[in-house]
Amino acid sequence: MLNFEELTRDELSELAPRALVVVPVGSIEQHGPHLPVGVDCVIVSELARRAAAEAGRTMPVLVTPTLPFGFAQHHVPFGGTVSINVATYQEVLTDIGKSLVASGFRRLFFLNGHGGNDPSVQAVGDRLVFELGLDVHVAAASYWTCAADILAGLDLGIGPVPGHAGAFETSCMLAIAPDQVRTEVLPIADGILQPLAATAMGEAVVRRPGVWSASDGRTDDASGASAALGEKALTAIAERVARFVIDFHQST
Ligand SMILES: [Zn+2]
Repeated sequence: MLNFEELTRDELSELAPRALVVVPVGSIEQHGPHLPVGVDCVIVSELARRAAAEAGRTMPVLVTPTLPFGFAQHHVPFGGTVSINVATYQEVLTDIGKSLVASGFRRLFFLNGHGGNDPSVQAVGDRLVFELGLDVHVAAASYWTCAADILAGLDLGIGPVPGHAGAFETSCMLAIAPDQVRTEVLPIADGILQPLAATAMGEAVVRRPGVWSASDGRTDDASGASAALGEKALTAIAERVARFVIDFHQST
């Protein structure tokens, strides 16, 4: 695994025709009273690093810096949130792809760590390949979608994955960056799903007015969170993402 930003232009030019580039995308947004606003960036960066390290043993895999800002308008009223509107965000993602193609890269994988980014991330391939006609293979997925088959069999015994600021994300943070978890202000363990999780429907992308403001900005409580659960999930997801990276590279 190679960090894109640590290489020179000549080294990148040499690698470009053979390499696959992972572009992790995150968000800066409120994550309840107990987690920092950079959670999505922390988790997706960790997964990209682990997956690229694994896949990079058999092929050149580069990881760009994580794009920290995404579409998070639904979190803005809570504070501590920076959001880029959908149209602008799609332009940003497309421009990142165009730049990488101009640098000679032919395999891009946008790995998303925040639900609000998902539709825009999925649109990047259409824009780069079909609208702009660029000679590039583009893959895009949220990590929980890429690893959905593995996660289904993992039986973590907690709330929704990834959910938001609940047991899953808290567990991942306890595994990656425990110093950043304010365990002294963990939300009260009410044991019931917050409104936005309770009204979600898995079959479709559903948006409802007022559902975020009716919650306190979380999907579920974090009382069942632990570093061990987080590590178990991160290991399984990273392995699955690595397998996708290898399959995608071979398919090109
Ligand atoms: Zn999050």
